[in-house]
Amino acid sequence: MAVSHLSEDEQTLIEAIREIARERVAPRAAEIDHTSQFPWDMKELLAQQDVLAMPFPEEYGGIGSSELAVVIAIEELSRNCATTGLILAVQQLGSLPIMLAGNEEQKRKYLPPLASGEWLAAFGLTEAGSGSDAAAMKTFAVRSGDKYVLNGSKRFITNGGLAQVNSIFAITDPNVGTRGISAFIVERDFPGFSVGRIEDKMGIKGSQTAELIFTDCEVPAANLLGREGDGFKFAMMTLDRTRPGVGAQALGIAQGALDLAISYSKQRVQFDRPIADNQGIQFMLADMATKVEAARLLVYNAAEMIDRGEPYFSKFSSMAKMYASDVAMEVTGDAVQILGGYGYMKEYPAERMMRDAKITQIYEGTNQIQRLVIARALLGEN
Ligand SMILES: Cc1cc2nc3c(=O)[nH]c(=O)nc-3n(C[C@H](O)[C@H](O)[C@H](O)COP(=O)(O)OP(=O)(O)OC[C@H]3O[C@@H](n4cnc5c(N)ncnc54)[C@H](O)[C@@H]3O)c2cc1C
Repeated sequence: MAVSHLSEDEQTLIEAIREIARERVAPRAAEIDHTSQFPWDMKELLAQQDVLAMPFPEEYGGIGSSELAVVIAIEELSRNCATTGLILAVQQLGSLPIMLAGNEEQKRKYLPPLASGEWLAAFGLTEAGSGSDAAAMKTFAVRSGDKYVLNGSKRFITNGGLAQVNSIFAITDPNVGTRGISAFIVERDFPGFSVGRIEDKMGIKGSQTAELIFTDCEVPAANLLGREGDGFKFAMMTLDRTRPGVGAQALGIAQGALDLAISYSKQRVQFDRPIADNQGIQFMLADMATKVEAARLLVYNAAEMIDRGEPYFSKFSSMAKMYASDVAMEVTGDAVQILGGYGYMKEYPAERMMRDAKITQIYEGTNQIQRLVIARALLGEN
């Protein structure tokens, strides 16, 4: 689909990303999946090419791309390697609380090294006992002089242990529900910060998912984001803005699976003709392509609503994430089917794409939670 709303510079950058993704990211994808090691070379590549700088404003070392350009970049990277696409998505996720709520001093200190890719970011909301019900968190922060002392732990944190900068949510007042949750910038080197279990996962295997542990962790009071009690609001504002990025990751995976299914079906001969000559296969390809295109429209639309500063984009953001991730599961499953036995083998990327697609239905709010967000907006509107 042609995208007319990108600036000329953005179009040039997206062309370059498409080429880098094809030439340099795609050849690494199987190995990243196989070794389950964080791809530092891919992080460097994205940093060098200014891809990691895209979500950051120019005044803080970024290139100030539109959200539309950011989601297309995530899509193009994920089309070839979902783990590499996630590096950009999480750099935005972990940094957005600072961009949305940070004061000038916090922005000047933390955003430039994140925009350059020197530092990685992480977003710490989930805990062992609080996933969908994020407000049920137990990690708490107590003010002590010019510091806060944090105790508790966060689970399933992407880039956990690799990120220098962690946006962490903790309770400062247990008596007022979500209004008692505050947000902090926690550096990996702060005393009392440690990394626990590193998860062994189904997909996005090169992405490190870890437990973060806070044991009397000392955080300067200057690292409180906004005011005490504003943290939950910042977490939700962040997720509203990053869910199109998860949709874009899903969309990229689905497009990659469709590309593969088309090329394979033209080459694979059974009964003396390419399997693509069978109408049964053609109908599958047509349905897959239509779903991918519909997902793309929802993802781009949500990103453009953010760019236009529209106030009620949250519902559309959830729709984009939910629909694109459901499509990614369907289309990758169909791609495995079209490749037959070869689709089930690691020799081809179809099975990796299917494993990678699954997470997009789960993180940044499961698709059940997205349906709740959408339904609440619908009912509230009436
Ligand atoms: C690989 C990976 C990376 C992640 N990265 C991060 C990260 O960087 N930062 C972070 O903070 N978190 C992260 N997460 C956590 C992720 O956001 C949560 O796993 C997710 O929100 C679901 O929480 P849960 O796993 O506790 O499931 P639960 O909340 O226990 O849900 C279990 C099931 O119940 C359903 N359910 C729950 N409540 C309802 C309801 N009210 N109505 C209907 N169904 C419901 C859910 O949809 C799900 O199907 C990551 C998770 C994974 C797996």
